[in-house]
Amino acid sequence: MEPLLPGYAPVMGYRPWVNHNECVSSGACVLEAPEAFGFQEGPESLAVVLPGATELSDERVLEVAGMCPVDAIHVFDEAGKEVTDFAA
Ligand code: SF4
Repeated sequence: MEPLLPGYAPVMGYRPWVNHNECVSSGACVLEAPEAFGFQEGPESLAVVLPGATELSDERVLEVAGMCPVDAIHVFDEAGKEVTDFAA
């Protein structure tokens, strides 16, 4: 196992990403998980993923993503494959 470099935290688990072409600034993700989602500066107040998102479990990431009214939160696994399936 490789030793960790100071200040380096490996990305583990599912990672959320907000598609700004889809986000309508409802605030659901920010209210539900303020440690992981916030609003970016600017008039549109689109949601962004915060560093605290790495603290969420895979299940919690999927749960919060499922609360987005327009399915703007996409979730990817450690290999970079999208695991959100909005067709279901
Ligand atoms: S829940 Fe969806 S639409 Fe609402 S702020 Fe978050 S990403 Fe944007």
